[in-house]
Amino acid sequence: MSDSSTIDVAVIGAGPAGLMAAETLVKAGARVTVFDAMPSAGRKFLMAGRGGLNLTHSEPLPDFMARYGAAEARLAPVIDGFTPVDLRTWSEALGQPTFIGSSGRVFPESFKASPLLRAWLRRLGESGVSFAFRHRWTGWSADDALRFEMPDGERLVSAKATVLALGGASWAKLGSDGAWVDILAAKNIAIAPLRPANVGFDVAWSDIFKDRFEGQPLKGIALSFGAHAVRGEAMVTRSGIEGGGIYALSSVLREAVMADGKAVLNIALRPDLDAGALTRKLAAPRGKQSFSNFLRKALHLSPVAIGLLQEVAIAEGVQLASLEPEKLVALINAVPVVLTGVAPIARAISSAGGIVFDEIDDGFMLKRMPGVFVAGEMLDWEAPTGGYLLQASFATGVAAGTGVLNWINL
Ligand SMILES: Cc1cc2nc3c(=O)[nH]c(=O)nc-3n(C[C@H](O)[C@H](O)[C@H](O)COP(=O)(O)OP(=O)(O)OC[C@H]3O[C@@H](n4cnc5c(N)ncnc54)[C@H](O)[C@@H]3O)c2cc1C
Repeated sequence: MSDSSTIDVAVIGAGPAGLMAAETLVKAGARVTVFDAMPSAGRKFLMAGRGGLNLTHSEPLPDFMARYGAAEARLAPVIDGFTPVDLRTWSEALGQPTFIGSSGRVFPESFKASPLLRAWLRRLGESGVSFAFRHRWTGWSADDALRFEMPDGERLVSAKATVLALGGASWAKLGSDGAWVDILAAKNIAIAPLRPANVGFDVAWSDIFKDRFEGQPLKGIALSFGAHAVRGEAMVTRSGIEGGGIYALSSVLREAVMADGKAVLNIALRPDLDAGALTRKLAAPRGKQSFSNFLRKALHLSPVAIGLLQEVAIAEGVQLASLEPEKLVALINAVPVVLTGVAPIARAISSAGGIVFDEIDDGFMLKRMPGVFVAGEMLDWEAPTGGYLLQASFATGVAAGTGVLNWINL
């Protein structure tokens, strides 16, 4: 079965970017239909809210913009047009006031995504946005209609303008599977390969270590790779290591692992203690306690931190307890962890790569495809966790919506 219809603007992708584009459009009087392959909207957004929805960050704008690295120049004007403060005001207007956490990150007071999404979808519906779920976009027909695969057949839709907000390729089961890459590449759109971002890494832990410490956090550590260093946390997994501190370094670590097959991450277990302080604490009498107990009491190291020291010492063929004091001191604040692979994109928080910025004009329209606009994570930018991903997704949604309005002169 195939049927066809004509609409004003088709927004494809009901994530933060697509919904924000739809809101921008409907506010200006456009007739908008939002299509999504999934049975409901915002599945990744809901997942983002599971551990506390980090909407944006409160740091000064210049610092904020710098988080986008190579994409800063293109994203800064867009975020100037829809700032972190605007995002907080928007959330509050939907009945979800926000607060600034101790790290400067911004969360809704409810901490969750579901009340915000529910209120947003209600408001969009009341403003006249139509939704068409279970519509998988598969490209264009010979006469440029949008093609959608539905459970009961194909539908062709002609739109005056289209916003593609199809997301990246992490957590594909939530809807964004990166299948759009082939469709747009066939139209000669340049796309940087989608790669895992904010992702964990593989480490060849010994069986003993992973059996004992899988799922345990290394807290209050500092992590470094070359000139890049951060404070944070990491979590031991069965296959390696993940968590906030790892994600913050994940773009440089990923490039190194992909280029060289491995990268050595250094972990400082007591970054607030310098070598002198560590040496003094380790000089305390040990008595009859085991070496692990001694380390735990003298340095307040957790069992997983001590396990990590033992793991590294054993890999080098020595017992931790028999290390020379200077070597032990050096090891405690620079535990080398060899990363041997990048965790799969299916488990990454976000993806790097996407449509390169040279392909779009200032209104976020594809230069090679007039009338087709793009927004969100499908563009070639990446950022650490901290609210930067959602802020850029929302802001590019506003920019693409505004681009459409200027283009069709509504
Ligand atoms: C576990 C997890 C936690 C996160 N936590 C945070 C956080 O706290 N803070 C933060 O800033 N970011 C966080 N993120 C990242 C954030 O959720 C994403 O960056 C953001 O959702 C991207 O928005 P988007 O609209 O570009 O894409 P998406 O949210 O991925 O939406 C894309 C939509 O397009 C639809 N789609 C894809 N292909 C098709 C097709 N062919 N046809 C029809 N529809 C299609 C999908 O079904 C989906 O609904 C988290 C992500 C994950 C996975």
